[in-house]
Amino acid sequence: GRCLGCKEQDAVIDLARHRTRYCGECFVDHIRTQVRVAIDAYGMLRYDDEILVAVSGGKDSLALWDILLDMGYNASGLYLGLGIGAYSSRSERIVRDYAERRGVRLHVEDLAEEYGFDIPDSVKHPRRSDKKKKNGVGRAACGTCGLSKRYVFNKTALRHGYDVMATGHNLDDEAAQLFGNVLRWQTEFMARQSPMLPASEGGLARKVKPLYRLTEREMAAYCVIRGLDYVVEECPLVEGNTVMRYKDALNELERAAPGTKAHFLFGFLDRVRDEHFDQDEHFGTSLVPCDDCGLPTPAHQPGQTPVCAFCRTRGRLLQLVDRPARSDASDDEH
Ligand code: SF4
Repeated sequence: GRCLGCKEQDAVIDLARHRTRYCGECFVDHIRTQVRVAIDAYGMLRYDDEILVAVSGGKDSLALWDILLDMGYNASGLYLGLGIGAYSSRSERIVRDYAERRGVRLHVEDLAEEYGFDIPDSVKHPRRSDKKKKNGVGRAACGTCGLSKRYVFNKTALRHGYDVMATGHNLDDEAAQLFGNVLRWQTEFMARQSPMLPASEGGLARKVKPLYRLTEREMAAYCVIRGLDYVVEECPLVEGNTVMRYKDALNELERAAPGTKAHFLFGFLDRVRDEHFDQDEHFGTSLVPCDDCGLPTPAHQPGQTPVCAFCRTRGRLLQLVDRPARSDASDDEH
């Protein structure tokens, strides 16, 4: 049928949740409008901010970078090489190509080169406690991966003085995360779940998720319509990612009642989070410099030496992995 936006072109996508359908042009408008609403609702970004976007090569982060640049924001990219075989090399190629095509700044970091281990190493050398758990090794790989991404992201933002860090988390990611936290009533995680986390006293830049109002399907459609090349294949280690299970469950519910995911997430953000969780208690956690790397890390018990989670994991893996770390930690830019 016809696009219900311009009422002229043929529609290329149906959006059941919004009870509408759009042609390519109106769809791209819809995406930018949703990002605008997200940014304004939380005061996420200003036009004079230097923004660092974590770009994995997947559809969400590339789309986010593309949208922010088109909206006129100053957005640079950060790609972190995880060492996951062909999946990683293809991702890096795609991100480099995009940055080159747009003529924008890209920081490229590599776990193995900079820190002496990569994600497959964490699968090869699991902790004994992880081996005992069902799929514990796979889960630990994703844990190490997430920890490393956060660490390198913070570090790059600090080192280069970025004002804000942006990630491509979409509505599906955020709803699945919330679902998992609710199932176990992990209230401290729920309190920290927000499309925007303010800058911390220890010097970490604020963190924003401008795609939280848009679904995975919308982001894939955006990339196709805009002709953005992205890594379609899933990470080969995704088995260990528990969030996938929650996504499947929510998709099942969404099929029966479109809009369920959005109600679940937005209801929490608009009506539950601010009223029932004390923000200060969670954001006010004081940060102290890590004893190893000097980056801000949550303060431990008085008297304990603070070593951040990344340095502890790295320390354990370096004892097991036979690969020299590069000593000069200057990053590669183009
Ligand atoms: Fe990292 Fe796990 Fe995601 Fe693969 S699936 S990129 S290992 S978090």
